[in-house]
Amino acid sequence: MFTKTTKTVVVIGAGPGGYACAIRLAQQGHSVTLIEKESLGGTCLNWGCIPSKAFIHVGEFYHQLMSGSSTALGITAENVQLDWTTTLNWKNALVSRLRGGIGQLLTKHKITVLTGEATVTPEHRVLVTKTTGEVQTLHPEAIVLSMGSSPSVPSAYQSLIDGKFILTSNHLLTMPTLPKTLAIIGGGVIGLELGCMLAHLGVTVDIIESQPAILTGWHPETVKVFTQQLQQLGVTLHLNTTVAELPQINQEEQTVHLQLQHAVTTQSTTQVVDKVLLCTGRKPNTQGLTAVGIALSDTGHVVVNNKQQTNIPSIYAIGDLVTGPQLAHKATREGLLVADVISGLPEVKDWRAIPAVIYTAPELAQVGWNEQQAKENGYPHAKTTIFPLGALGRSHTLSNTPSPKGHFIVVTDAQTDVVLGAEVIAPHAGELIGELALAVECSLTATDIALTMHAHPTLSEGWMEAAEAVHQQAIHLFQAGR
Ligand code: FAD
Repeated sequence: MFTKTTKTVVVIGAGPGGYACAIRLAQQGHSVTLIEKESLGGTCLNWGCIPSKAFIHVGEFYHQLMSGSSTALGITAENVQLDWTTTLNWKNALVSRLRGGIGQLLTKHKITVLTGEATVTPEHRVLVTKTTGEVQTLHPEAIVLSMGSSPSVPSAYQSLIDGKFILTSNHLLTMPTLPKTLAIIGGGVIGLELGCMLAHLGVTVDIIESQPAILTGWHPETVKVFTQQLQQLGVTLHLNTTVAELPQINQEEQTVHLQLQHAVTTQSTTQVVDKVLLCTGRKPNTQGLTAVGIALSDTGHVVVNNKQQTNIPSIYAIGDLVTGPQLAHKATREGLLVADVISGLPEVKDWRAIPAVIYTAPELAQVGWNEQQAKENGYPHAKTTIFPLGALGRSHTLSNTPSPKGHFIVVTDAQTDVVLGAEVIAPHAGELIGELALAVECSLTATDIALTMHAHPTLSEGWMEAAEAVHQQAIHLFQAGR
């Protein structure tokens, strides 16, 4: 049980880390003030997870109708139109609805919400500069920093960002019209997701990536299947390629000229597009923190211990502000942990499973370790087992083609049978990974999964069959060498 001492706590930033932390603190009886300078829900609700997934849904729906792939199912759609203004309004309405929901929850939990910019003073007070210009000083017993992150743009590009020709993801998600052509600089998760979404909406997309490969840390077979599907979608992936000179905007043509250079062949090409989207990572919003004595790492993140405590014991930091994957659910989990720590519970950060989903076409998800990571972490007998998506009846009922592409991967310790990690490339991969997150978190064995009855026909049977395949006993896969 937690201590019943009520503390005054200030949480700075109302993203998925901050608002969840504030609610849990209030549930535990503390007096909580949450400060947000922009909108409740943070990056995730307003500029990230939710708006991007809303557009991804529209893109997939539109693509199915437009590409003629639905005709194999006996559906012919004529006169399909996309009214982007309506799409934007729909997205804005759902974001606003969810924002309102967070506001109501905060009110019901009697959390004081202040709209304004917060700064921490060297005496560890919090100054709030409200939109009215009024400054309020708070004297909390604990402070939770959850200011999140912002697009990180190479300094040379800073002055070029105009929201019209050169965009960040924030601009893209509020874009009033769709371009015909767009180049994305950066083939990371956000670049790939937005690239697939735009391609589904009929935009010609080029993705420029300086590295020789995308999807670092994913199984080579996953990367192969994904890359093939990307090509089928018409997305051009330029690997090993850099933008050699700053983009040139041609106002007359209303285009952007990009000089691309291949790192290996050194060959140069010019790419002319309507818009350029910069997906070059995100940086933590840590401005001003070192001045008040809060330690930052070399990467600019706030340094925390396994209780999310900074070098100043009464100040905690969570989410994108600290190291680790930039994921909303990781921020939330850290926020809940901090609430427990402030309440005196003997909690430390010890979770094993942080699921990651890439909402591309097809969707990808993974959790835990791949085989190599497992070996590096002391499991020399780690082994990988793959079960093909196409062996599941359900995958055929969901597919417009006779050979659904994808697979389920489980990584187990061959000595103990414990599941160490998993990966899936399949429709609804993000929904599927939950089961394996539970398995990894609870150290379940492949046998536990294999013996759990899975409903038929579902894609989740893929996990059961993959777990059976670990012992060469999958029903819908012939495994030679038994
Ligand atoms: P944030 O959500 O960034 O919230 C921080 C808040 O603090 C902001 O509202 C900001 O205005 C406020 N703030 C900052 N400084 C101050 C200050 N001084 N005073 C007051 N308020 C302040 N993650 C996923 O898990 N799944 C996804 O599908 C996904 N998709 C994404 C798609 C895109 C395009 C982007 C950009 C991100 C995506 N992410 C996704 C990442 C996810 O949005 C972040 O990891 C998550 O929002 C981090 O939460 P946070 O609470 O740490 O910070």
